[in-house]
Amino acid sequence: MSAMEKLLRLFLVDQQLSGLEGRLGAAQRFLDAQSAALADLKATRDSQNAQLRQLLAHIANIEGEGDTIQQRIDELRGKMNSSQTNKEYQALLVEVGKLTADKSALDEQALELMEKADELRASIKETDAAASERDKMQGVAKQDRDKRAAEIKDRVEALRAEREQLAADAPGDALRAYEARRDRFDESDDVMAPLVEQNLKRHEFTCGSCMMSVPIDIVTSLMSGRFSTCTSCGVILYLEEASAEKLTAGKK
Ligand SMILES: [Zn+2]
Repeated sequence: MSAMEKLLRLFLVDQQLSGLEGRLGAAQRFLDAQSAALADLKATRDSQNAQLRQLLAHIANIEGEGDTIQQRIDELRGKMNSSQTNKEYQALLVEVGKLTADKSALDEQALELMEKADELRASIKETDAAASERDKMQGVAKQDRDKRAAEIKDRVEALRAEREQLAADAPGDALRAYEARRDRFDESDDVMAPLVEQNLKRHEFTCGSCMMSVPIDIVTSLMSGRFSTCTSCGVILYLEEASAEKLTAGKK
């Protein structure tokens, strides 16, 4: 087998592998998205719970403060009952009035915060519901990913083994050039592309990747199965069987 044919076989195996792994990759990406969304919801719930704890502590403080004021009011009322002079009574009355206003302001504040706490509890419930829904989706996504992974496992293993053999058998410099392009480009037709015949009689050929014209010496080199690249884009060229037959027939 020529260098070109060896690389071409490797290329075909790689295309099958990336097709299989691409489908698995889509399932994996979907699973990752579900996991990320679930993690977000859990983080939201944690922060909502922390907010609620803070709010409840704040309410407890305010209620404690209110209780202290109420005790003071009760004390002053007792003193009012046993007050000796009207002046003393009036002074106590003023203080009780002021403390009562303070107490009712605190009560109002506590009530507002309790309403906020209720709203927060409702939000936490919503977050929990969304998280449990997302958790189910993550479960389904994981099953799907695992199922696809299991489906392609044997085929992928066989192709990897085949690839290893083909790579070991390919000429070193051609293989290095091939692997370098594979690392550099995502699209397979940037790695290897067929020679495209435009006009056989006029010896017009183009590169299957960049569509630029391919000089005749490259065509000759391909016909003898040598490792050849496009002079315009650098893609590794190959001859399709049909083109090879035509070219050989044309030469005779
Ligand atoms: Zn090209």
